Parts: sequence; structure tokens; C-alpha cells
Amino acid sequence: MRRQHALRSKLFAVVAAAALSVLTFGTPAQANHAWGSYHWARTSNPFTLKLGDNVTAAWDSYLSTASADWSQSTVLDTTIVAGQSTRSCKATSGRVEVCNRTYGNNGWLGLASISVTGGTHITSGTAKMNDTYFNTATYNTPAWRLLVMCQEVAHTFGLDHQDENFDNPNLGTCMDYTSDPDGPPSNLHPNAHDFDQLEAIYAHLDSFSTVDQTQSVPQVGDDRASWGRLVARDGARDTFVRDFANGDKVITVVYWVR
Ligand SMILES: [Zn+2]
Ligand SMILES: [Zn+2]
Repeated sequence: MRRQHALRSKLFAVVAAAALSVLTFGTPAQANHAWGSYHWARTSNPFTLKLGDNVTAAWDSYLSTASADWSQSTVLDTTIVAGQSTRSCKATSGRVEVCNRTYGNNGWLGLASISVTGGTHITSGTAKMNDTYFNTATYNTPAWRLLVMCQEVAHTFGLDHQDENFDNPNLGTCMDYTSDPDGPPSNLHPNAHDFDQLEAIYAHLDSFSTVDQTQSVPQVGDDRASWGRLVARDGARDTFVRDFANGDKVITVVYWVR
């Protein structure tokens, strides 16, 4: 009996070690490249996410490029549709709204928010570009516009940055902070690691979908006070969480002007 127990303990230890090694080494990207475990609930892959076009003509080509770039993912496609937001970029259920506006000298270049239900499932997303800065000589370049558009849109999939240091060499992805988006290498498009990470985030399927749903979703504004509490600070990136009724949350990630 004792011997059997010891054997079982040993077996358990081996299984536990194997499980731990899978956790530790099996998905290396998982640990540092997702916001949390936030993702759109859906019943099959690839799923199609609508990007509501609330942007002005100056931004249309960058939205188109970002949409095409991310649609190369094997787990998701994006399609650009007419925007449903007012100029305030109100979040709408089951989709993403993309907006630009002169939001003012508030310190942020780009802003992405997702509403989350049940702890992990995304129910809406917004991506905002602040023309107050994109109208200045520093940021009024195709490279800066494309990098920030590519990055903010991807945050609404649940994808995080690969790196938040402005001063190290570019990683060759729009999910990398930089002082020069043109590089080399350029940080204007996703790279293979981003697509690997999306596959990890969307590896499982859900029994229901939050895509194209129409339930009401909580809202936050453009001002820091509306974003809730600061929960993470990594270099120049800040993440805020605001709690709403029924455990719903809105998570906001900020790209501050340097
Ligand atoms: Zn899920
Ligand atoms: Zn970001």
C-alpha cells in the first residue's frame, strides 16, 4: 500500500513536472504579450471582426493597411465597415470603432479600450488617434500614423506590445515602442511573433460569441479620470481598469507622447 502510494506520488510528480514545463516553455509568447487573457468569444476560427471607420480621409489608408495586415492572421479577419460612433468614439457592442480627432494636449498619442465581460471576453473595442499630435511636424508622417494605427487596432484583439522601450533597436513590429518607426527595421506592420501570439490567444473556442452581439457595453471617455484605476505601468505604457456593474470592466491602454 505504502509502496503503491509512493509510486503514485512519483508518477504525480513526473506528470506535474511535465505540466509545469508545458506551462513554462510550451507557450513562450503567452507570458508577456497579451493584455491578460482578454479575447473575443467566438465558436470558430477564423472569426471576422468589424472595424467601424469613423476616421477622416487623412487616416483611411492607414486603417486599410492595418486591417489588411492583421487579416493575414490565421485566427481572425478584420473588415472595415461604416462607423457607428459619434465623434466621441462611443463603443458599440460586438465590434471595434476606430476614430481620430484633435483630442487636445492631454499627453496621449493613441488610446485603445476594450470592454470585458465574465473576466476575459471582449465585447467591444475602440481605437483612437490624437490629431493634436499627429498634426505636429514630429508625428505627421506616414510611419508614425501607420505604427500607431496598427498598434491601437491590435490592442482591441487583446494583443499587447512586444517591447516598451523607446531607445532599443526596433523589433520590426508595430507592437514595439520606438523613437523611429522607419527603423531599420521598420515598425510599421505586424511580425511573425504577433501572429503566433494571436494563435495562442485564440487557440481555444468558446461555446458562445461576443462578436456581432448587441447587448449594451460600458463606456469610458478620452480623459484619464474616466479610465479608472492604474493597474500596470511598464515603461511608457499605462494600463487602466474601470469596473462596471455585473463584473464588466473597461480596460484602457495608453500610448503616451514621449
Ligand atoms: Zn474564451
Ligand atoms: Zn500600445
